[in-house]
Amino acid sequence: MLLSVKKRQEYLKELGFYKDKIDGKVGKNTKQAYKDLQNKYFFRKQDKDGVYGKNTDILLRNAYKVHKYCKNFKLEEFACHCKGKYCTGYPAELSDYLLQNVQKLRNKYGATTITSPLRCKTWNSKQSGSSSTSNHTKGRAVDITNAHTKNLSDRKEIINYWFTLQKPNYSYCNGWGRKGKKSYKVNAKNMGNAVHCDTSK
Ligand SMILES: [Zn+2]
Repeated sequence: MLLSVKKRQEYLKELGFYKDKIDGKVGKNTKQAYKDLQNKYFFRKQDKDGVYGKNTDILLRNAYKVHKYCKNFKLEEFACHCKGKYCTGYPAELSDYLLQNVQKLRNKYGATTITSPLRCKTWNSKQSGSSSTSNHTKGRAVDITNAHTKNLSDRKEIINYWFTLQKPNYSYCNGWGRKGKKSYKVNAKNMGNAVHCDTSK
């Protein structure tokens, strides 16, 4: 279900796209705010149509959540790396838990790069070794690097830290992985130093 017009106005106001009344009516300024939001984040011309449909609803929810939960990340850092080749850039709604956890990880380990964020199904299928049901396509996974992911023992520490956070599902890197209390060896050289972190919800 799409957000109510009131909710859209509240979110757009919080994000700085709307300065008018929260009245639940789609007037000139509300329409302009939809357009400005799309223009800022969508990659493809065809998606910047000013119409509030499913894609814009996902975009607004994601923009609002990143603003609410992530003081050190921008929405763009979570955009699909196809860069508009196959999707709007925001093919799924981001998990509240994922965003909160990633911010906590940032608080603990410092500047963190999201090396693999949201993925549309087409982009996901082009990544070597990726599963078609990857949580990247569901807004529940990111791969990250930071100053503390350079060697395996540090990456293990990050993976174990992930399991102290909300709704951890599994987490792995080249060398080692964990799901719940179980750990396993991983051979994923294409991951480089990155750590995959995901949530079950
Ligand atoms: Zn994509």
